Amino acid sequence: MIIHLKETVSFQQATKLAEQAHAQLFTRDKQAVLVTSSSTKEVPDFLQEYAEDHFVMASDIQLASRTYQPQTREVTVNQVTVGGNTNHTLMITGPCSIESREQIVTCADMLKELGITTLRAGCFKPRTSPYSFQGLGLEGLKMLAQIREEYGFNIITEVRDATHVEAVIEYADIVQVGAKAMYDQGILRTCGKAQKPVLLKRHFGATLQEFVQAAEFVLSGGNEQVMLCERGIRTFETKTRFTLDLCGVSYLKEHTNLPVILDTSHAMGYSYGVPDLTRACVAMGVDGLLIESHPNPQVAKSDAAQQLNLNEFRDLYRSVQAVAEAVGRKVV
Ligand code: PEP
Ligand code: MN
Repeated sequence: MIIHLKETVSFQQATKLAEQAHAQLFTRDKQAVLVTSSSTKEVPDFLQEYAEDHFVMASDIQLASRTYQPQTREVTVNQVTVGGNTNHTLMITGPCSIESREQIVTCADMLKELGITTLRAGCFKPRTSPYSFQGLGLEGLKMLAQIREEYGFNIITEVRDATHVEAVIEYADIVQVGAKAMYDQGILRTCGKAQKPVLLKRHFGATLQEFVQAAEFVLSGGNEQVMLCERGIRTFETKTRFTLDLCGVSYLKEHTNLPVILDTSHAMGYSYGVPDLTRACVAMGVDGLLIESHPNPQVAKSDAAQQLNLNEFRDLYRSVQAVAEAVGRKVV
């Protein structure tokens, strides 16, 4: 159950009430919001006099549910807004990993040429082998901050584990929580306290319920700027890297109020499939896209097979505009 307390309830009082109710507590503007388990179906007696409004929820998809808030939440990153009434489809692109200043400048120049304002690149890479390239770490974050300074882009980069979550929050404009980190509640809770938008990726073994509940950790921590990212789940199929769950995307669009971003690169795993798959996603009317692009994918230090080279990306970018327009959207 979600309980909005009266504005006259002080934060101190709300903290005590939250403890008593075993609830998560956060404040929105001046109002304290308590969230208890969805098995609570009636406002407890001791809360009656403090409650202004309450929402009985069917499952622990609560703050993210359209039953609670019917409109898609608006997420604003500096000059760019998605969700709300915008009909924007946010284009997020850049290399899997930042590898050098030269590489990232080449990518940044392409974004500038196309008028794209959101650059992504990983610095802390969650590799499946400890012997693979692990990313440039803090050095990479500093290079990305420099690029933001020079180009005015929004930077999105990922958190791999608890060792650097604060640093990523400090340097990024959007914090990406990677698929494997989706289950890391330390990271989720830290993101809940952050003032930056979070792009939460679905773990490849997570059900939709688990995925959205992971988002609830961030939302109930007080950070309401969350975007969900479908990036493929593991199925019996091995010809593609993962299986992009577009049925799941329909579910998320219908039942949750969070913007939904589609990562076709990690789902497909091979660059040849990314353009078609991306156009199909745009036709679904999604809130954003995450596409890996690299000046020279053959020598990329991570995810080489799936990254588009910059000309392939340019072609894709041009072609998605018309599809977006056909479904009443605008790529930003
Ligand atoms: C990435 O975005 O480069 C990445 C590692 O993705 P995922 O967490 O979805 O595997
Ligand atoms: Mn990658």
